[in-house]
Amino acid sequence: MNHPRRLLAGVAVLALAASATVVTVRVRQGDSPPRSSAAAVVPTSTPGQLTAADELARKQAVDAVLARRASAVLKGDLKGFMASVDPKQAALVARQQLLFTNLRKFGLASLSYFTADKFDPGPGLIEKFGPTTFSTRVMMRYRIGGLDPKPAQTDLGYTFVRRGSAWILVDDVQTDSLLSHDGHRQPWDFEEVALVRRGPVVVVVDQKEAALGTKVADVAQAAVASVRRHWKRPWNGAVLVVAMPDTQVMSTIWTSGNGAGWTIAAKAVTLFQGEQLGKPLGPPIGSRIVVNPDLRKRLDKDLLVHEMTHVATATLGTRAPIWMVEGLAEYVRCRAIEDDPHWTVDPYRKTVKTKYLPKLKGLPDQALFDTNADAAYGTSWWTVEYLAHKLGEKKLATLYTALATTGFSEPTLAKYTGLTRTQLAAAVKTFKG
Ligand SMILES: [Zn+2]
Repeated sequence: MNHPRRLLAGVAVLALAASATVVTVRVRQGDSPPRSSAAAVVPTSTPGQLTAADELARKQAVDAVLARRASAVLKGDLKGFMASVDPKQAALVARQQLLFTNLRKFGLASLSYFTADKFDPGPGLIEKFGPTTFSTRVMMRYRIGGLDPKPAQTDLGYTFVRRGSAWILVDDVQTDSLLSHDGHRQPWDFEEVALVRRGPVVVVVDQKEAALGTKVADVAQAAVASVRRHWKRPWNGAVLVVAMPDTQVMSTIWTSGNGAGWTIAAKAVTLFQGEQLGKPLGPPIGSRIVVNPDLRKRLDKDLLVHEMTHVATATLGTRAPIWMVEGLAEYVRCRAIEDDPHWTVDPYRKTVKTKYLPKLKGLPDQALFDTNADAAYGTSWWTVEYLAHKLGEKKLATLYTALATTGFSEPTLAKYTGLTRTQLAAAVKTFKG
């Protein structure tokens, strides 16, 4: 491609004509910015310094490329998807082909990409790809068919250059460090995946571990059934369970608590409708369960029931107090275990009653979860055990819903339980179970 040379020639000409001013005036007069002509991307004084109109034209051109890529995924058109990828870079081509293959497996009901904030490509990329180098955050908005009720959103860092009249993707990894915590760390971003669909449950595993997918799907389906038995509100059981060997997927940290902490088996990650840059925005629309890669082959139903309970309740809202959120998940987990007459949680019960309850001074709060997670989970469980005993599971679900929607308040607690917070804590402390 000889375009960089042409571009430099263009800069010289523009500088002579002092056309930066001319362009500004034209924009002020309300001319629509040029779209496809080379002038749209020619730097005015120094390379990379574009006028607002030039930047808009570039954004529109790249958005058009992204729209064609999204439509190619939905249509299964690999050639169309790869048309914008630099064919001279074997590794990039391989990554992009893999991305296409994986995205097709997810059965996306909708997909769109669009540019967000501009990134500084850094000197490395500009030296490598020339003065038209353009790095940008790309938002990916997608809905997995049969799973997501509404589109979810994540981000990517892409770098494009102009070649002839086209914008070409030349890099998809160099700006990853500027992304949100799960940006470019989705299940389709690493190795080739296999998906196992079992009713509303979708499990994603490494393609080389397809048999594991079947096993996890069985376990997940049993966990969904357990949650449905004890969570007395409608829930369709739709969840994506990610059980991949790569620790980078969804970028989750697998220890909790202070010091050495303890290992987490699985995590429910809530998705928000307007989530951007890793910050929750708008209502929660659903969840993913990410399984700890180290434990993916030893996963059993009980480990998943706790997280599944979070999934079942996620869309109600985020305002329930932590003792209620974790207490309910532990309550459903323990009930699910004891649904099998051969199993008991008696040792856990005994620990809570003899070790944690005597020290209970109030309902477990975030400080207790931070300093003594075992006591916090145990006493939260016991609080919800007490509420289930007092109210029954149906009214427990009603109380949970009220707290998740409007947050904790004494009037709300009194309305559903007839107790104040202090009275509830006192009743929990002496509850024999
Ligand atoms: Zn939890």
